[in-house]
Amino acid sequence: MKIYNTLTKKPEEFVPIVPEELSMYVCGPTVYNLIHIGNARPMIVFDTFRRYMEYKGYKVNYVSNFTDVDDKIIKKANEEGVSSEEISARYIEECKKDMKALNVKPATVHPKATEEIDGMIEMISKLIEKGHAYKADDGTVYYRTKSFDGYGKLSHKNLEDLEAGHREIRVAGEEGKEDPFDFVLWKPKKEGEPSWPSPWCDGRPGWHIECSVMSRKYLGDTIDIHAGGEDLIFPHHENEIAQSEAANGAPFAHYWMHNAFLNVDNRKMSKSLGNFFTVREILNEYDPMVLRFFMLSAHYRSPLNFSRELMEAAKTSLERITTAVSNIKFKINNQEEGALTEEEKKLLEEEERFRTEFETAMEDDCNTADAISACFNMIKFLNVNCDGKSLDFLKESLRNITTLLDVLGIVTEEEEVLLEEEIEALIEERNRARKEKNFARADEIRDQLLSRGIVLEDTREGVRWKRA
Ligand code: AMP
Ligand code: ZN
Repeated sequence: MKIYNTLTKKPEEFVPIVPEELSMYVCGPTVYNLIHIGNARPMIVFDTFRRYMEYKGYKVNYVSNFTDVDDKIIKKANEEGVSSEEISARYIEECKKDMKALNVKPATVHPKATEEIDGMIEMISKLIEKGHAYKADDGTVYYRTKSFDGYGKLSHKNLEDLEAGHREIRVAGEEGKEDPFDFVLWKPKKEGEPSWPSPWCDGRPGWHIECSVMSRKYLGDTIDIHAGGEDLIFPHHENEIAQSEAANGAPFAHYWMHNAFLNVDNRKMSKSLGNFFTVREILNEYDPMVLRFFMLSAHYRSPLNFSRELMEAAKTSLERITTAVSNIKFKINNQEEGALTEEEKKLLEEEERFRTEFETAMEDDCNTADAISACFNMIKFLNVNCDGKSLDFLKESLRNITTLLDVLGIVTEEEEVLLEEEIEALIEERNRARKEKNFARADEIRDQLLSRGIVLEDTREGVRWKRA
């Protein structure tokens, strides 16, 4: 399999550290709000890459963090008059709901920065010990960027060139730096901010050290693949390399994969331009599978433009797939004849062609756009060849197409939607149970509704419900 490696700027054959195993770290979101559709892109494309590796038989150890201590979280907490923990816990839960809707598999581990502070203190101490970091008078610990020879190797930036264009200006509050390129590993506490004790001062970690530590703890000193959006190449991933390689004395990641950005109406998404959408907003309008399908319709390294027209086109394309699949299911339910005929055996061999086409696309740096074309080719073939066929043929054909769709994480099952009357009836029953003090039954009904996407809210005026 070929993977385009940002580190070498070329496609390279993927050779895992341990045969048939993949260790992968994907930088996760900072949790201060509902995730936006841009955040969903790395989640979906790297989930699809993971699914493909699992399909190939790899044992995948997939780690994706939540950054749950950050200026933006603190700002939001102050605005709402609640703690940072409350904000991050809330948005981690919301993010997990969106991921589930988009059929993004939970990571093997989802570490949270605030639960890994000891490891960060340990790595920072080691960097100080080795001369790669130093403490300033105010207790801030900085990474001594020029002490690391390989600095710039991922972003292909040269420190001298950067320096030429660089300013003499020192960023306010960072007077203690030896050099403008040094970056923060640990910063002193400010009033009203979450903080932890450390050998240098009460404070909190810088963003970059979090990922270095969490990656090492769950995947080891050297991992196969580190991934994220292309905005993270510099400085975040460059700094992660400097920290990890200096501290561990081993290469950090063999391959670096970066997804290109999602734009909206051909412009960078921004709240001020009014072209900013959360995943939740889009899922109010579209089935989550349409959004997932849309994201996979482009190669992950190509910029992707989001617009209503393109979402409508994705919806129509996806419907062609779901209709074909449900037609086969219908035929299966109405067909009793079993065994394969000789002609059908030949047709099944032909179906293998589409699987090969699909695999060739995925082997080529996870080309999901071409993989989707292979699915369409198979759909066209099935639409023509499924009439009057045996049960075994239909079942085998269904299995062939759904195997490929599963790799893409596209679910074609039509969800059984609860009707309003059914919901109201269950709420009535729950009210009765509560009156009779049968709280076990009442809770059971609430959980049952929740599992089907209905959230109940007990208010003074009675029970309200909404679809999650
Ligand atoms: P953040 O919460 O900003 O750290 O972002 C979480 C992940 O989403 C990172 O991998 C970012 O690179 C990625 N990301 C943010 N905005 C976009 C976008 N517009 N398109 C694609 N990826 C994005
Ligand atoms: Zn990271």
